[in-house]
Amino acid sequence: MKNPSIWWIRRDMRLTDNEALSAALACGQVIPLFILDERSEALGSAPKWRLERSLEALQDALNSKGSKLVLRRGSALNVLRDIVAETGAGEVHWNRLYDPRSRRIDSEVKSTLRSEGLKAQSHTGHLLVEPMQVRTQTGDFYKVFTPFWRNIQTQDVAAPKPEPKDIGGPAEWPHSECLKDWSLSISMQRGAKILSQYSAVGEASAWSKLSRFLEERASRYSEARDLIAEHGTSDLSDNLAFGEISARSIWHMGQKAFASGAEGLEPFLRQVGWRDFAQHLMYHTPHIVDKNWRDGWDDFPWSEVENTPEVEAWKYGRTGIDFVDAAMRELWVTGKMHNRARMVAASYLTKHLLVHWRIGERWFADQLIDYDQANNTMGWQWVAGSGPDASPYFRIFNPDTQIKKFDPQGRYFKRWVAEGQIQPPKTALDFFEAIPKRLDMSAKDLRPHAIVGLKEGRERALAAYSKK
Ligand code: FAD
Repeated sequence: MKNPSIWWIRRDMRLTDNEALSAALACGQVIPLFILDERSEALGSAPKWRLERSLEALQDALNSKGSKLVLRRGSALNVLRDIVAETGAGEVHWNRLYDPRSRRIDSEVKSTLRSEGLKAQSHTGHLLVEPMQVRTQTGDFYKVFTPFWRNIQTQDVAAPKPEPKDIGGPAEWPHSECLKDWSLSISMQRGAKILSQYSAVGEASAWSKLSRFLEERASRYSEARDLIAEHGTSDLSDNLAFGEISARSIWHMGQKAFASGAEGLEPFLRQVGWRDFAQHLMYHTPHIVDKNWRDGWDDFPWSEVENTPEVEAWKYGRTGIDFVDAAMRELWVTGKMHNRARMVAASYLTKHLLVHWRIGERWFADQLIDYDQANNTMGWQWVAGSGPDASPYFRIFNPDTQIKKFDPQGRYFKRWVAEGQIQPPKTALDFFEAIPKRLDMSAKDLRPHAIVGLKEGRERALAAYSKK
């Protein structure tokens, strides 16, 4: 009988198209292991809540294959060594991540375990194509999306690995901690009950979302993706963020649908390409996660004070600007926000309110169930003007014009903002259930005046920019 192998799980909570799992299975018995290490401990409240849901779904999926999920808390290297010592495991397999912290931890784990005589192997599968495999003709990395995307389209995106029929485990399982004891949802408080009504978690949900999207909505994606009140996009971002489905599976399902005559898939796959681009940038320029990506922005007069009345008003959807308030409330209720709404809310904060993108980025990192460090920092720096391939700072979204253009009937605002409505919908009322009670906000309040008017804020932002 061969020694068991460890499948070290991080952002790959799936059984289909999982290279690390397939490699571990090739040796025979597999110990699926999730470690609550410094990376997951550092997550914000909503992503931690979402992590717990994802682990529950993975536990169920593993049980149905005759396997188990082993949970341990601690530093990755120490826990892996403990499990090796307890079980005699001879191999450790995991899928690569590209953020600076993961790269540091993973390389330490790899070199230490190898020096101790184990087979420690990382695998591909988080992206369509790995960041180091996409190069310009001069061998450099890409700083602009369109040529990056052209390159990706010429690459051979590996076919997904099939779901294993069953997953054999060791005769004696190592001890597992209990998921509930980790209290991952504790900082969500009232919000957890609301979020759970609006999210579909786990690999099976991800696949059914993808099939429904391809059958019913993909052909209209190009027009509908910006219509904020429509369900025009795939809604897969949180599933992708936790690796409940792979980008490669989406790509190949998309190609299959295209081959059988489906239309409108390129614009959708292009967005999945933006996810690869964000990781590409984070890999090649890791400073993007916490510093201005472009030179010349460090002296820009953004405020970095966390809890000013303006920032608080922005966070709790009471700026008096309809689109921004609706967007911030959508975030409280669903843990997500429409892409256009993210752009407008981020623009109002960084331009009209002259607040540093890092403050907004941190708030999203705490509140988004689809929080993805690469997508989030790229998105914020794109809007703020300090990022690669960014929207120029002087191009300032006007939230009023935007909401009229992308929701002419005003459905999005009514869906999320209760004040002023005789019979507000449940979605708008759920906001008051999700926010902390101390805020004492209610549907009967009057809508506030704009904390910073659109004309005034725009002029102030342009004046600051002209002095840059
Ligand atoms: P679809 O339109 O169906 O697209 C399919 C997939 O492509 C998405 O699930 C996502 O993985 C990827 N994708 C789509 N748009 C983008 C984009 N602009 N950049 C990178 N990848 C993209 N996305 C996150 O997943 N996590 C974040 O933390 C995040 N923070 C953001 C912050 C800001 C300020 C901005 C402007 C955008 C941010 N995005 C983030 C990108 C985008 O808003 C979401 O991915 C999108 O709204 C998810 O909806 P969907 O799954 O229906 O996407």
